[in-house]
Amino acid sequence: MIIPKAERLQSEELKEIEDIAKEFECSILEIHGRNRCVYAILGDENHAVMFKRIAGLSYIRKVDMIESSYKLMDRRSGLSDHIVRMGETEVGKDAPFIIGGPCTIDPSNPELYVETAHALKEAGVDALRGGVWKPRTNPYSYQGDENALDIILRAREETGLPIDVEVMDADQLKLALAAKVDVLQVGTRNALNYSLLKQIGRESAGTNSAVLLKRGRHMASINEFISAAEYLVAEGNPDVLLCPRGTTPPLDGYRNHPDESITPLLKNRTWAPVIVDPSHSVGHADYVLACSLAAIAYGADGLCIESHVDPQRGIGDDPKQAITPEKMKELIKACRSAFPSRYKAI
Ligand code: PEP
Ligand code: MN
Repeated sequence: MIIPKAERLQSEELKEIEDIAKEFECSILEIHGRNRCVYAILGDENHAVMFKRIAGLSYIRKVDMIESSYKLMDRRSGLSDHIVRMGETEVGKDAPFIIGGPCTIDPSNPELYVETAHALKEAGVDALRGGVWKPRTNPYSYQGDENALDIILRAREETGLPIDVEVMDADQLKLALAAKVDVLQVGTRNALNYSLLKQIGRESAGTNSAVLLKRGRHMASINEFISAAEYLVAEGNPDVLLCPRGTTPPLDGYRNHPDESITPLLKNRTWAPVIVDPSHSVGHADYVLACSLAAIAYGADGLCIESHVDPQRGIGDDPKQAITPEKMKELIKACRSAFPSRYKAI
């Protein structure tokens, strides 16, 4: 990875480096961090001569050769000081970043979603979530509806809060990007869909849309999770949020096997913020508070929680696992007071 002395390379400087890289059958990818650009060498970067020629240029601060399968996501990479911002908020800086909202937006009842959004703003959430298109295990279950996008856009407009929407394919991505959705969610089922990850990384590069990547529920290793996020960053979008959400087989009594305990492992290996989803992890509204506090104790930067003003009138997962905005308010208070003692990466 190439780190320039200035915030970014001038075009003639970039051209000079590209010409050197081309001689060694490599190319250069510019990655826009919020504070500075870094440049990844694509191809076989282990050419000592290429390395020395680039490192010797007067406008280059350093060239890092990180021995890691995820060079950009690695804690030692030039992106290690990258901060994901949502509007004015730095994710996970002073308080846990809380995303809240129903599992699924009911398109036949827009007022219910908007009412929930206002109640959650009042409760203190930092961003709203809501499923427009739904990945359902059963093909006969409700699959989502494009019209629900307008409902969550209206809620953003009225509350001023950023929004998180899951996308599962190219058409949905296109609509979400056109609507300037703040957080593109990649669900657990697509967590290892590398062509979708590449497409999302490429098309969201240079936009203000971050990507919340859920952990695949059959995903075995931490490195596999981080490597999936590497696809997004390697295509040009460093605004990634890692979201543990429980794995399968479930712990008897829970919906999944809660995995908030991987948070410090992620934070030791990578710089990306960790946003834990307790709702899908435990799958019952009654256990969401405990799982949220555990996540914060493990060092999570935030939480993504299903919430609804009247869970029994919700669709998708809401009747089982959504908490009310009143419970959300209590949860935020409890998590805020636990946050200062959070785990520090070592
Ligand atoms: C969701 O957030 O509603 C969802 C479907 O999540 P997951 O992909 O974690 O199952
Ligand atoms: Mn859900």
